[in-house]
Amino acid sequence: MKEMPLLILFIFFNLSISTNLFFQWRLTDSEIDQLNKESIQLFKSNYDLYKKMIKNYITRNDKSENIDTSSKNKDDSQEEEPNLYLSRYSHCLKCVSFIKSIKDVKNKYGYTAIYENMKKNACPSIKQFLKMDEDVCKGFIDGYGAIVLENFFSRYIDSHYLCEKVDLCPVLTQKKFINPDSYAEKVLVGKKDKKRENINENGKRIKMLQITDLHLDPKFKEGHSTECKKPICCRDKPNDNQLAEGKVVGKYGFEGKCDIGEDLFKSFVDDAFARNVDFVIWTGDNAPHDTWEGSQDGVFDISRRLKNMLDEKFKTKNIPVFYSLGNHEKYPNDAFHDEENYMLENMAKVYKDYLNEEAYNTFKKYGYYSLKYSNNLKIIAINCLVCDSFNFNLFNSTKMHAKKMFNWLENELKKAEKNNEYVYILDHFPLNGEFTLTECAKRFQALFDRYEYNIRGIFSGHTHRDDIEGITSYFDKNKIINLNFVAPQLTTYSSKLPSYRIYTIDDETKQVLDYEQYRFDLKKSNEEKKPYWYLAYKASEFYGVKNLLEYNNIINNFNKWEDYVLNQYSGSEHGKSVSRNLEKQKFAKCVMKTNNFDELFKCYNPKIGMDFIFISVISNFLIGPFEE
Ligand SMILES: [Zn+2]
Ligand SMILES: [Zn+2]
Repeated sequence: MKEMPLLILFIFFNLSISTNLFFQWRLTDSEIDQLNKESIQLFKSNYDLYKKMIKNYITRNDKSENIDTSSKNKDDSQEEEPNLYLSRYSHCLKCVSFIKSIKDVKNKYGYTAIYENMKKNACPSIKQFLKMDEDVCKGFIDGYGAIVLENFFSRYIDSHYLCEKVDLCPVLTQKKFINPDSYAEKVLVGKKDKKRENINENGKRIKMLQITDLHLDPKFKEGHSTECKKPICCRDKPNDNQLAEGKVVGKYGFEGKCDIGEDLFKSFVDDAFARNVDFVIWTGDNAPHDTWEGSQDGVFDISRRLKNMLDEKFKTKNIPVFYSLGNHEKYPNDAFHDEENYMLENMAKVYKDYLNEEAYNTFKKYGYYSLKYSNNLKIIAINCLVCDSFNFNLFNSTKMHAKKMFNWLENELKKAEKNNEYVYILDHFPLNGEFTLTECAKRFQALFDRYEYNIRGIFSGHTHRDDIEGITSYFDKNKIINLNFVAPQLTTYSSKLPSYRIYTIDDETKQVLDYEQYRFDLKKSNEEKKPYWYLAYKASEFYGVKNLLEYNNIINNFNKWEDYVLNQYSGSEHGKSVSRNLEKQKFAKCVMKTNNFDELFKCYNPKIGMDFIFISVISNFLIGPFEE
């Protein structure tokens, strides 16, 4: 394939365009000043260089005059010299046919040939680099190869897109984007100036249980090996060495790269049930981290098993449960696309008896819904996958699902305001993590600002970290308007202790006053083959406040960062070894004080490596803004 070097050039060219667009479009002038100017300059000069190289390549056999349409006003084309016009027209044709020839090459070999080739040639060396078995690499390429290639090709290897970008064809379609700032300006019109009520000291309190990131592994088995060359272990028989060294998992799990088995989950159900909660929120991620070898049907089966185990106790007292989708509910993880009927219909079936007819129908179609817990509390469950930075299908999508979701959400909030209802938002992804697209996070923030009075809390999971995050007013970054509660995981992955949380709520105003964080004593439980859950801390005591309504105090004055990082790691052995790390403490501070990934990135300013943050930077570039 002699076109291969050119394909690579295209990839760099496109990355350049995206990064360029990203910086120009997203940042204000003063923000650009604050950023490293050199790196922006580098992107810009690369962009011009690639553009020139591609243009030269396409027109290389042409000895006629040097065409540079970009310097001319395109509307004047009819009045130009006939030769110039013809020549420009022929360059455009040449470009279109060139892109077609690239597509023909791709069609001739097909995507399958490209990634079969990658599997054969790249996996043997990658496996040594990652210290993983070859089937893990192959499994990942089978899962994501086609998604990445197809989306990349159809978005970027497109003559409309490319030939217009290198100025060989006149620009026919000018896309219009909706800037989140203008969205916010529009949304914020009519915001009510209403203060939250004072709490009646003797008022009725209710309790809400949150479970998140369950990651039940059907292959988990006591006595299996805790060390392996896969992303998760505790699922294969140990070898003689491992047996001799005691590297086997106990009855309740292992603090390392293992998900959990049914014994642990059942012990959680017993323990939490005994604490007499009024209702439950379940914020997603049911399936294990078996991304290289799982299946969509496997996700349904695991979700059903978890629900049945929970129902066995909680249903006996008719305790309502509100569930929202996690990114592990899609297989391959995160890769939700525009026509996701099979996944959504089956997930809706699993949770049907938690929903009323209207919520079931909305969930089945879109993956989100709203449902009332009581006369004055509405629960809104978000579909995190439509705003997922790791959803590569969004490269080439109209973001139709996300746009629909924001319209729907705005409408739901409007109704809540009209009917004097309070609202809890369940979103598997926290707003400011590496996983919510900044485009979406800013829209959420705008809506949370507009409906500040009605929304009484945002509840998330996903990061497997215990966090509390202040949400500020959209245009006044000093004014904290709400809290995003990020609860820790039930799984032991990765090197964490299983955890669940119970909130104390004022029934009359539905304000969250406090929470109790429970953890599992894994060591003792495995030794005694008997489960031990314990209260790790009470939020009001840990943050040194009377109740969690003092969120300004918490976000602005908190300073026990070593303890905070230890909590982020749910008090695990690994957590003890990293909690003094100043980088980790800086990250924790940034997480608490930012509203979206851009802000988090700027605050944390990390060294770029091949990690989640890096992938998120790239995907935010490539996925780009919402079109009008
Ligand atoms: Zn998770
Ligand atoms: Zn997740």
